[in-house]
Amino acid sequence: MLFDLHLHSRYSLDALTKPETIIRICKKNGWGVSITDHCSMDSYEGAGGAAKTAKKKGVFLIPGEEILVFEDGKIKGEVIAYFLNSPIESKSFAEIVDDVKSQGALLSCPHPFDWPRRNFKEFPKHWKKFACMETFNARAYYNHLNKKSEEFAEGKKIAQLGVSDAHIPEEIGNGLTEMNAGTENEFRKELKKQRTKVIVNDFATVWHHFQTQLARRKIVSPR
Ligand SMILES: [Zn+2]
Repeated sequence: MLFDLHLHSRYSLDALTKPETIIRICKKNGWGVSITDHCSMDSYEGAGGAAKTAKKKGVFLIPGEEILVFEDGKIKGEVIAYFLNSPIESKSFAEIVDDVKSQGALLSCPHPFDWPRRNFKEFPKHWKKFACMETFNARAYYNHLNKKSEEFAEGKKIAQLGVSDAHIPEEIGNGLTEMNAGTENEFRKELKKQRTKVIVNDFATVWHHFQTQLARRKIVSPR
């Protein structure tokens, strides 16, 4: 099964896609998905109701959240957690790791070397605390930064993911992860064994990034 494990809905400030649009696209293509909003409960269980829609349509939806890491009041980057029961407040990396662990959730590192974005720069020091890392993010500013991730992951016991990091509907599926998993247990098992395949479909364009700016300024409506 193919999964897009990092994308955003309108419940993230800079994204335009309605949760129901995400579920519709994934249903059509037979993809599993994780909506990794910064305020994930809004899209998942709240007004966005993605959990309910996914269940109705039979789409494999993994609860996810992109979390800001803070240290001494400064942003240190972003990490993603899958299978959270309740949202994690942005705080220090050590506290986030504890929270994620106590919830039995899994940690991923989004765009680990993408320095023009909020990459978690201490990832190379802490990689053993992560279940997986992105080695293809379709929104990477420079593709050699994806290559750097790939080289880092090689030979290490960490699963590799391909993701779209979509902020608008047209980007969904630009990057995908193939896994032999149709249930949460299978997903966890396959990830643990690093049995993932990264699928590169397309790259986000300047137009896609521009839409993000429009979303931020609330110039265009969600779709
Ligand atoms: Zn993101």
